[in-house]
Amino acid sequence: MTNHTGPDRHRILLVFLPFWTPYIPPQGITTLKSYLQNRGYYVRTADLSVEGNLKELYDEYFRLLRAYIPGNKKGNFFNVGHDVLLNHMMAHINRTDEEKYVRLVKTIVEKTYYTVLTEPRVRELNNVLTVLFERMETRLLELLEVERPTVFGSTAYSGTLASCLFAFRLAREKYPHVKTIIGGGSFADQLIPGTPNFDRFLESTEDYLDKIVIGEGRIIFDRWLRGELPEDRRVYTKDDIQGKTVDISTDVDVPDLCDMDLSKYIFMAATGSRSCPNECSFCNVKIYWGRHKVKNVEQTVREMINQYDKYGNQLFFMYDALLNTFISDFSKEIIRSEVPLYYVGYLKACKEACDVDNAMLWRQGGFYRARMGVESGSQRVLDIINKQITPQEIRDTVVNLAYAGIKTTTYWIVGHPGETEEDFQQTLDLIEELRNDIWEAECNPFNYYYTGQQSADEWSKRRFLLYPEDASDELIVQTWTLNIEPSREEVYRRMNRFVQHCEKLGIPNPYSIDELYKADERWKRLHPNAVPSIVDLKDMNLCVDESRTIKQFVMAKRSEPEEGDFIL
Ligand code: SF4
Repeated sequence: MTNHTGPDRHRILLVFLPFWTPYIPPQGITTLKSYLQNRGYYVRTADLSVEGNLKELYDEYFRLLRAYIPGNKKGNFFNVGHDVLLNHMMAHINRTDEEKYVRLVKTIVEKTYYTVLTEPRVRELNNVLTVLFERMETRLLELLEVERPTVFGSTAYSGTLASCLFAFRLAREKYPHVKTIIGGGSFADQLIPGTPNFDRFLESTEDYLDKIVIGEGRIIFDRWLRGELPEDRRVYTKDDIQGKTVDISTDVDVPDLCDMDLSKYIFMAATGSRSCPNECSFCNVKIYWGRHKVKNVEQTVREMINQYDKYGNQLFFMYDALLNTFISDFSKEIIRSEVPLYYVGYLKACKEACDVDNAMLWRQGGFYRARMGVESGSQRVLDIINKQITPQEIRDTVVNLAYAGIKTTTYWIVGHPGETEEDFQQTLDLIEELRNDIWEAECNPFNYYYTGQQSADEWSKRRFLLYPEDASDELIVQTWTLNIEPSREEVYRRMNRFVQHCEKLGIPNPYSIDELYKADERWKRLHPNAVPSIVDLKDMNLCVDESRTIKQFVMAKRSEPEEGDFIL
């Protein structure tokens, strides 16, 4: 054990790297900043994923890719496009042979959009990434030069992993004495310890990545800085801190956002719980986060009001796995508070949500948009997934929330192992039936991970590599898929049909602010109790408080009024 410790011995630079959809300020590095500052450390944070000259290359990449993919094969274009971009970025930073690189990019696009790109088109996409990494290098060197850190850390998610590796290599090359450290969600899905991906990652980053933190990042990071962890190890997990976890009810650090440009994000972020009480077959949340815990709602609301007082944004993104277990108490607490807060969060279709009084209570308490993993319209598939809901509960939940005016984002899994054409048709039929009560429909093709999912053991016998084995050095993180029905090609075909079906029904899946605005206008036309538009809630000069008076609308509805009585 070494003693390289003490707050005065360290300057810490934590960066969040391209690309990540900037709904909320990065929570990992900003809560870590807060935690370490409270213990006396100097910490600077930066979010490069929202910086204009990098973001414009993201836009350019997708503008080109979109133009190259035929209309009937675009599917859920951005979602699956992020897989293409991640793998392409990895191939770009690890390329050694130009011809092999071009072939690999063609394969990556083909296995996602089932379209073959010509070589000139591949080279156009490559050029965008060349400029991206040049600009990233300039910006990173500027930060390293100004901050002169002793420790340089970042967060790995699927979209940011290639940039992290690029940044650490650069830091090692230019400032070899700086310690590099990584944590993040990638270690819960693509890079779970014990998998071939993790072993390859360890080996290939040996020269420039010093420490890997898996789970409970705040406690582990602090202990490492204090020299309380063995310095000769690269990977630290919660076993190194005797399983200690952050006590969400007492040991709370609200993120320090002072280095962030908050105008770049749609929401502030908050959380009222940890992990999930359920165990769906394809999900790894419980495996990673362990037992489900809920925070005191008074504390959660107090933390949100503190953020509102400081930064002035009423609209929060709750990043809990599920709100179900505390949403009613949470809503009551917001109603009691002096600030009309609004929040977006994950909700599971359930009996409570089938009750209109509950939906109205949540609406009064600021529930702005429900994000619901409804997955399928087929009871058979819901049972395979172990979702423990019925299509009727999905129906009733969606209809009730919509009646209360709460925006309903519905997530559907297309092509879960065992899904038949008949099951898929039931999904399309349910969407059609609910079309006016769905604010947004988004489908995701079923994704298989090497391990970590609830049904991993059962599926492990049917897996095979999606990309060529000889591309492992370039991709580092390989993708597996299953030799199981429906086939990957069929899954992606169904995804295209899903998207076309929703387009025909006029159900949006908005990405840009302009698309969000249009989706909100549609919602207002359909639902008299509709929540305010995102544009109104983003206006920091306004304090929107219509949720406080929404009660009169439900009373009006119960007495079967004229339509005009509902107008807000
Ligand atoms: S899919 Fe949602 S409800 Fe199911 S285990 Fe994961 S977080 Fe929980």
